[in-house]
Amino acid sequence: MSRLDAIRGSSLPVSHNARAIAALAANPACDRRAVLDGAGIDKSGIVAHLGFPARFGQSPFAITRTREFKAIVKADDGAHVLRLLRELGLPAEEAKYHDVGAASGQEARHRRTMDVLGAAAREATALVDRPLLKLGVAGHEVYLEPDVIAFQADRRFHVVAIKSFPIIDGQADAGKVSAAAREAAVYVHAMRDLFGRLGLDPEGVSHDVVLICPKDFMNFPTACLVDVRLQLEALKRQLARLARIDTILDRLPPDLSLDLRLDGETPTRPAAELGAALSAIPARYAPECLAACEMAYFCRDEARACGSLEALGRSVRDDLGGIQSLDLAIELMAGGHVPADHAAIAERLGFVRRILDEAVA
Ligand code: SF4
Repeated sequence: MSRLDAIRGSSLPVSHNARAIAALAANPACDRRAVLDGAGIDKSGIVAHLGFPARFGQSPFAITRTREFKAIVKADDGAHVLRLLRELGLPAEEAKYHDVGAASGQEARHRRTMDVLGAAAREATALVDRPLLKLGVAGHEVYLEPDVIAFQADRRFHVVAIKSFPIIDGQADAGKVSAAAREAAVYVHAMRDLFGRLGLDPEGVSHDVVLICPKDFMNFPTACLVDVRLQLEALKRQLARLARIDTILDRLPPDLSLDLRLDGETPTRPAAELGAALSAIPARYAPECLAACEMAYFCRDEARACGSLEALGRSVRDDLGGIQSLDLAIELMAGGHVPADHAAIAERLGFVRRILDEAVA
């Protein structure tokens, strides 16, 4: 049994999806997330048992809205997709439409995707609907399902991401675009990985992803290109880190276990014992975790309890570089004893304190 299997215990490993893999890149320095995902641990089950259930993921309303919008975009053999590709300056005349979702079973659908992509490379243009890709993550094979893959006459494949958040007057919610870019980067990486294994040029998969969203407050689709090179680099670093997870495991207690000790579907392990085991894995909580990780409410509570500055966000942590705790920041702000190596930060905090005092007065 591997060390990761021992940490997971008797529960079956959960598989990752693109959203989960993308979230890995959202907090690449967090050992806790790397271990939990590397071991395939059900994070939602863990935090539910600890009393911090994940309030995470799309609402049923948003899921329905996304499904309806995708149906509109893909209708008539992807007519909207072709129109939008042309509007973006990507040549897409007379594209052949392939729906590979009908193949039964994931492996069959993956093989069918590969066959169609290989054949598409010899065609002028093509749209591949409901493709299924595969990627190795921490020693596990993961199936991934992009919305559409488009092949252009300029000999490049483009991942097409269809999202239901609106683009209003040419602007979209930056956080949602950023999350969509991280997710699309996973598909680009999986495609390039596959091309490499097939002996094809990975650069045949473009780093420009086609993002399709509703225009203004209507259901009419509009599109823009999103460059995901930065997200790809972050993702590659994090996947490489997961592949070298032994270096993280070496720093953990040798008998560490996050086993829920399930009796059927009911966890029997005392929550306090499980919480202590989890806290033995270092975390780097930041408010951004709330939108990206099921563990967020547990980690936030833990960060607050130990007065960690991390809980206030990365910008505060960066501004107060070198200071680890809220207590020390408050002490410096109050003008107490100032160690020589914190003099510059103490001066800035003192300045903020004076402004606050004046504002209050
Ligand atoms: S919520 Fe916790 S485990 Fe998840 S990324 Fe943030 S610090 Fe790491």
